[in-house]
Amino acid sequence: MLCSGLSPTGRALFDIDRTRPLSLYLHIPFCTRKCSYCGFFSKAGCSEAAIDAFASKLVSEIDFISQSLGKPFCTVFIGGGNPGILGEKRLLAIAKACCRWGKPSEFTVEMNPENAGSWLEGPLEYITRLSIGVQSLDQKVLDILGRNSSALDTLRGIEESQRLKQLCGFSLNYDFICCVPGCRESSVQDLKKIRELARFEHLSLYSLMVEPKTVMGIRAEKGEFSPVGDDDQADELEMLWDLLESSGMEHYEVSNFAAGPDHECLHNKVYWNMGQYLGLGPGAASTLYSPYTRVECLSNVDQYINSPLFSGYRTEALGRIQQMEEWAIMGCRTRYGLGSDDCLARFGVRLPSFLEYPGFTYDGSFFRPGREGFLLADGAASYVLDALASSDADGEESRIGQN
Ligand code: SF4
Repeated sequence: MLCSGLSPTGRALFDIDRTRPLSLYLHIPFCTRKCSYCGFFSKAGCSEAAIDAFASKLVSEIDFISQSLGKPFCTVFIGGGNPGILGEKRLLAIAKACCRWGKPSEFTVEMNPENAGSWLEGPLEYITRLSIGVQSLDQKVLDILGRNSSALDTLRGIEESQRLKQLCGFSLNYDFICCVPGCRESSVQDLKKIRELARFEHLSLYSLMVEPKTVMGIRAEKGEFSPVGDDDQADELEMLWDLLESSGMEHYEVSNFAAGPDHECLHNKVYWNMGQYLGLGPGAASTLYSPYTRVECLSNVDQYINSPLFSGYRTEALGRIQQMEEWAIMGCRTRYGLGSDDCLARFGVRLPSFLEYPGFTYDGSFFRPGREGFLLADGAASYVLDALASSDADGEESRIGQN
């Protein structure tokens, strides 16, 4: 039997609702060196033997899940860390395992720019989308970020990704970081320059988050620099958003732009729509149905490599209130917003009829952010949750079928 020999948590992973599509996220927890701002789980300086052992374990877990699933994954995303560290043989083995029953609708691999190269031509038989962590084209900004790629390597990587794109015809995303203290003009120049240098279908633009326990977080705590304040961040973001929109990119989520609806990231939309996805690898999270359950793999590479299949995973069933919170927070961040029918289908209640929030429109069916709303998404989500709680309490608009 497939599940024999697994821990109880491992067996819980197989309680997947197979009537729903299943996406797959693979966390590759390796980097050459930690960037100063990085709050992701990854280890620097691991041996080739450890990366080999990790890749073999990951392939075994994918095989196990695939065999049980019996159909293609909906989408696959290999992130990290820096999956570019895997190299051709290991990436190819992982990609093949992911496509055992056929290719997913979208297969993304992210990597640092210096890893883009001709070795990818084999894996690109399976991969449909490459996501390159540019962050900035300005060495001064990369130095402030303590980035582990140089501006020169980044430019070479962009050039190489363009060459591969012409050869293999995949979709490209470039990641940028803005709101770096004292670097507003560099961000403007970065976005102008990438349009001149490259053809791409997607761009992600993240505000720098100065997180505790990172090198930058510790420096900020010591008073060595001050993160950009909220108002200045909002000014900078609006200016950069204008620039991207004027070049034809559509702003479809707070931090994401696509060259038209067909190029929006399908895998991220699975997260935002609270779809079902399985995360494998140390530090990866999953959301599985039914019931709605969060599964997390422990952030420990050695333990992951040396323990039996699926033994380092922890599960937690999420209740209605937690699901509602996730739904509201994610929905307020996308241009599709929150739908009243969707709320009814998921939670048995409609959106209250009185919703009104700065930067959001509401026509009784959809509560959606505009430009200003994207800056106020978190506050709007709290407002909607309060409104749902109060309408729940007075029993007015919350009854199923009302409106
Ligand atoms: S490459 Fe990415 S995951 Fe690795 S240290 Fe830098 S920011 Fe973190």
